[in-house]
Amino acid sequence: MSSALLAGRHVVVSAGPTYEDIDPVRFLGNRSSGKMGFAIAAAAAARGARVSLIAGPVALATPGPGSGSLARIDVRSAAQMHAAVIGALPADVYIGAAAVADYTPARVAAEKIKKGAGGDGLTLQLVRTRDILAELAIHPRRPGLVVGFAAETEDVERHARGKLAAKQLDLIAANRVGVAGSGFESDDNALVIYGSDLALPLGPASKHELASQLLDLICQRLPAAARATDSAR
Ligand code: C5P
Repeated sequence: MSSALLAGRHVVVSAGPTYEDIDPVRFLGNRSSGKMGFAIAAAAAARGARVSLIAGPVALATPGPGSGSLARIDVRSAAQMHAAVIGALPADVYIGAAAVADYTPARVAAEKIKKGAGGDGLTLQLVRTRDILAELAIHPRRPGLVVGFAAETEDVERHARGKLAAKQLDLIAANRVGVAGSGFESDDNALVIYGSDLALPLGPASKHELASQLLDLICQRLPAAARATDSAR
């Protein structure tokens, strides 16, 4: 396979968890390691793309630039990730591999919340975050291909196809989490890629192998889409 299939293409990848601060020392997070998103960024750069990797808080080294280039932008919260993704446009491809918080505290306490502040219990008021993926799919500068991830614990196909339609995505990569040897913290995974005309099982395999196969599929589907650099800004 050519190493330059994505030469001249801008690929934006989000990866890892987000941390939503509660007070100066506490946050709400999740178990995403960022490994899948980082592997996807590396696979895109290996195919010659200019990659913007928007990374939540992860303990991973930045992938090499391959035959393309790779710029890593570190963020913490869902709001910061939203701003960084929108700021990276225009792009040919967006792959939302990050596990973005769905809810964030309504207020961040300026001081550490003291034990007993809420009596025997403590109620946190949470508000919805903005859905980066869904917004991007209807954005005036929508990337030619918008790809989401769906981590499900049950009824994977129904939930993934529901998100594909509701968020107006081109493809969604679904995985079952909570199964030993796959999902969030593992080096391996198994995915099914759904599109309106597609149900493609990939793996079980390493996240690097799965990323490579996903990028091959993206390369096949991309020629039909206009280049970001050709479209009006
Ligand atoms: O609906 P759900 O959160 O399961 O969808 C997962 C997909 O949506 C992932 O691709 C994730 O990156 C994206 N997402 C997002 N912004 C959010 C929540 C999820 O981009 N606030």
